[in-house]
Amino acid sequence: MIERVKLLEYEAKRILKAGSIPIPKSYIPDPNEPQFLPAVIKSQVPTGGRGKAGGVVVVNTEDEYKSALGKISKLEIKGFLPKTLLAEEALAIDRELYLSLLIDKPSASIMVMANSNGGVEVEENSEDSYWKQSITGKSDFDAIGQSLADYYDLPDKTFVLQDLVEKLYHCLVTNDALLLEINPLVITKDGQVVAGDCKMELDDAAAFRHPDWDFEAEKTESNFVTLDEKGTVATVANGAGLAMATVDAVADAGLVPANFLDIGGGANEASVLAAFKRLMEYEGLKVIIINIFAGITRCDEVAKAIIAARDQMPSLPPLAVRLAGTNYEQAAELLTDHGIAIQPSLADAITAAKKEII
Ligand code: GDP
Ligand code: MN
Repeated sequence: MIERVKLLEYEAKRILKAGSIPIPKSYIPDPNEPQFLPAVIKSQVPTGGRGKAGGVVVVNTEDEYKSALGKISKLEIKGFLPKTLLAEEALAIDRELYLSLLIDKPSASIMVMANSNGGVEVEENSEDSYWKQSITGKSDFDAIGQSLADYYDLPDKTFVLQDLVEKLYHCLVTNDALLLEINPLVITKDGQVVAGDCKMELDDAAAFRHPDWDFEAEKTESNFVTLDEKGTVATVANGAGLAMATVDAVADAGLVPANFLDIGGGANEASVLAAFKRLMEYEGLKVIIINIFAGITRCDEVAKAIIAARDQMPSLPPLAVRLAGTNYEQAAELLTDHGIAIQPSLADAITAAKKEII
């Protein structure tokens, strides 16, 4: 299973910069004074949708700068609080485009995807509105840049786009990235082409080749697969077999499982918190089903982790918890004391979950 190391924007942009890809001037903001204005203050959380959530703010004055820093550092986005903020020169935006390169497993190639409608509304773009092309050889860059320029209707940017695709390709390959997404790719009012935002995911299996890798975003240790981004039911189980059975049971009950997650044997507070954080990225999430069969894992440890997560994550959706095995009694007492119902079987947990989905 592929583990993805998801970088924060500022980490991804450092890599872009090293690859000579144009990014806005930026700095890690000092709370006392801005280095330059106007600037954009951006929350560095490992999730998208920051713009819509109020985590990206343009500031023109020193007062606005200070107040934005204060607000954004306390703003939780999809369950994440930023450890770092980023200040960038504000761009005078003419157009916002979408451009990404990714490892496409079905075609065993590197795919370029583009959309003339970039920015915060990309979710509105239908799957087949994307321009797609695989890179099969070095000579492709010129052709791809050319057709991209046609597609975006930017005939005078042909050379810039050819150069950009080639640099992005090298950046993806040399960094063992699985995804490199520029959204928005900004065309400024004075005609510059700049990476306004960057989402980068690295292949953790290649970490041994990169002793310098040291990123703020922690990778999830567990076996995790997204099944449906729009799923309403997230699942957390221990052991691959139980995790699969849980997903199947959810689907059999007519619900839409968002993911498969095996948190493994040593489920503890950190791993449960990390798992929940990842699940919070699903926009349609209504309920999380937790199905743990405790052998080496202890039910009371899992219960404590669940309670801690509930306290720390105010926007956590309802939980349907089924625990069985070692220290079940203590777990049941702990959860009940904290107003969390404990279900005797997976079928009961699914029935409870159904009540959360109207
Ligand atoms: P995301 O919402 O997490 O993807 O964050 P982005 O970094 O993509 O920023 C969201 C949106 O904020 C962009 O699509 C722009 O519309 C806006 N934005 C970001 N940077 C700037 C900037 O420098 N100038 C202006 N005017 N808008 C910006
Ligand atoms: Mn973006």
